[in-house]
Amino acid sequence: MRILIKGGTIVTATDQYVGDVLVEDERITTIGVSLDIAADRVIDASGKYVLPGGIDCHTHLDMPFGGTTSADDFESGTIAAAFGGTTSIVDFAIQYKGQTLHHAWETWMRKAEGRATIDYGFHMIITELTDQVECEMDDLVRQGVTSFKLFMAYPGVFMLDDATIFRALLRTGKNGGTICMHAENGGVIDVLVRKALAEGHTAPKYHALTRPARAEAEATHRAIAMAEIADVPIYIVHLSAAEALEMVTEARDRGLPAYAETCPQYLFLSYDNYEEPGFDGAKYVMSPPLRPKEGQDRLWRGLAFNDLQAISTDHCPFCMKEQKTLGRDDFSKIPNGAPGIETRMSLVYDGGVRTGRISLNRFVELTSTSPAKIFGLFPRKGTIAPGSDADIVIFDPIRASTLSARTLHMKVDYNPYEGRQVTGVSETVLSRGRVIIDNGTFTGRAGGGNFLKRAERRL
Ligand SMILES: [Zn+2]
Repeated sequence: MRILIKGGTIVTATDQYVGDVLVEDERITTIGVSLDIAADRVIDASGKYVLPGGIDCHTHLDMPFGGTTSADDFESGTIAAAFGGTTSIVDFAIQYKGQTLHHAWETWMRKAEGRATIDYGFHMIITELTDQVECEMDDLVRQGVTSFKLFMAYPGVFMLDDATIFRALLRTGKNGGTICMHAENGGVIDVLVRKALAEGHTAPKYHALTRPARAEAEATHRAIAMAEIADVPIYIVHLSAAEALEMVTEARDRGLPAYAETCPQYLFLSYDNYEEPGFDGAKYVMSPPLRPKEGQDRLWRGLAFNDLQAISTDHCPFCMKEQKTLGRDDFSKIPNGAPGIETRMSLVYDGGVRTGRISLNRFVELTSTSPAKIFGLFPRKGTIAPGSDADIVIFDPIRASTLSARTLHMKVDYNPYEGRQVTGVSETVLSRGRVIIDNGTFTGRAGGGNFLKRAERRL
């Protein structure tokens, strides 16, 4: 099967030029100007951008949380991802206490198999680190699960103490894995939550008011300090607060391999959303919470100057009906998370590139190339080059669209950006050479995605 994509503007993290891309079976084989090669299908991309498929390195599909399960499974979630121009995800498998990492990995492989429409990998969430689990970490790295997520928040559920975190960091120094950290001071937050509830504060906004930015900054600083002592890199997930970014910037200025991602919700939404009437603030209950609007410019600067290296979504949707309402009388029982897997590329293009905050190349780097490099997928993913997987997005930079739960494909009954106009839309999407979105219509299939065995750290 040969597909020739003609006349588009090919954009990678470093290049931008008009050219043709020949896809043979699953890979890109030839790039040139005015290629005259017979193909089974020719796609006219003139006036469009030809981008490497988006990589969302932070999603939670089919994830149990707080007595319910995130609303998208691997089928609906990856269909939505594909519509939004994302062709690879790295999701999280959870080791529950008493379980092995292998058991967790197999459990999440079963959730994805036969359902995922795009390629998927896993980070492993560690909640208990015995000697045996440390050995398992080495084995998982060899098998392509090369990153581990640890929590400094959610005491009693996910939170690990500093000694355990430090042991895991040391282990990655030997096995080539990467530690991803949820950096919030869970002990402090827990006390603030109990105090708020005791004072009768039950509304959704207290979720944010009991998770101060300083609690994120403190944990970010502590995580980076422990990684520095262990002499290993560290990756901070879903960084939301300008105060936390300062800690990353300070560390990077000293030459430390500290990396961090942020998410569109922290760039486009703010604390003000929690003040929406009635129970609507619950739509935005996620951890870390949305921050004051004033911090957004600092995050954009961090993205532009490479103190933040990736934009992921932390896609973890819960419906307002029957899910978010679990916390109607107690904000601490509102399932944490919001939808975002489908809207990332358009939001960041519209709010980042079109406003001049980041360049078009930087947009590609933040949404695809850099996550591919950090998580062991480059150059197979994350660029347009001969030999790379034909994960390609044909992106219309001038078409506008209105974001709405009614027209998006995520299985959730609201959208945090409802009614927002964005310019820049993914039109046709290829996953390993198969057209899975054809001019706005889904043509992929459940089970079309493959497990991504990722390489160990090279940073
Ligand atoms: Zn998450």
